[in-house]
Amino acid sequence: MGTTVSLTLIEPNDTVAQAVFDSIKLLEDKLTVNRLISEVMSINLAAGSHPVTVSSSVFSLIEQAQKVSLHFNSCFNFAIGPLVKLWKIGFNGQQVPPAKLIKQRLLLTDPNNIELDTNNRSVFLKKFGMEIDLGAIAKGYIADVAKLILHKYQVYQGIINLGGNVLTLGSPLTNENSYWHVGLKKPFATDDKLSGVIKVKNKSVVTSGIYERFFIQNNHLYHHILDPKTGYPLDNELDSVTVISNSSLEGDIYSTVFYGWGLDNSRKYLQKHQNLSAIFLLKNKTIALINPDNFVFQLIDTQYKIITD
Ligand code: ADP
Ligand code: MG
Repeated sequence: MGTTVSLTLIEPNDTVAQAVFDSIKLLEDKLTVNRLISEVMSINLAAGSHPVTVSSSVFSLIEQAQKVSLHFNSCFNFAIGPLVKLWKIGFNGQQVPPAKLIKQRLLLTDPNNIELDTNNRSVFLKKFGMEIDLGAIAKGYIADVAKLILHKYQVYQGIINLGGNVLTLGSPLTNENSYWHVGLKKPFATDDKLSGVIKVKNKSVVTSGIYERFFIQNNHLYHHILDPKTGYPLDNELDSVTVISNSSLEGDIYSTVFYGWGLDNSRKYLQKHQNLSAIFLLKNKTIALINPDNFVFQLIDTQYKIITD
């Protein structure tokens, strides 16, 4: 997944750890688009040619990705692959592509041109050159599966951390009031400075931000969340969005969706969905805490000012 994966358990248990890492590896092998062979790659390689039948787990993740892409009126688009591959942000060769190429690739990113057949569990990309990219939700999905594996082994306390997609199980102590502490990075800090600490129990904490994968060209910052309307990185007031939710898939979906919506639109949505909480870090050094009932936030960097709804 191009990131560090870590598992924290209260009691050391190699069998459980191995089972979790094996399941993560298995899913990465199915979902990656950064290698030539995977289930998602077999769909992409058959674009414009024929449907491809995939395993039920991959199919159900693709179904959810399509639902979010089509019915959410957001910038989330799992057909964004051709543009991700063009920009190569976070990979060798990253650079601003010629505008003409961006325009051409935009024509290959319509999620309506992806046909799902539930009976055959098959996926068909109707145009040659189309590519599915599940980068915005794969880690969340995989973290939820890892939690199920832990439950299978009767492990109900711990932390699964997939490069910033943090899923906490239970609380660290038997004491009801003990919380896991999840650091929220200070955007663009050269060391590992934190802007704050999020304290949660039994919750997922997922951040989408512009400060992990980006490059600078001609004094302009280009980051890895692309606007499917323009083909360029989304441009708004946010450095990052962190979503606190029950499932990590949900957190991964909404952290990307909220990033695209920006603070005001996301706040309206969150007011109607109290089960979700979010922390917005604005470029102007404001931190907005929305629905703060599901977590405790401790400010570390006093440059930031907190606003709460
Ligand atoms: P992170 O990878 O930091 O966890 P996200 O969950 O926000 O961040 O996902 C960003 C990834 O999603 C990109 O690296 C790319 O693979 C893919 N992506 C980029 N733009 C979009 C978009 N508009 N909709 C869906 N996926 C996207
Ligand atoms: Mg995401």
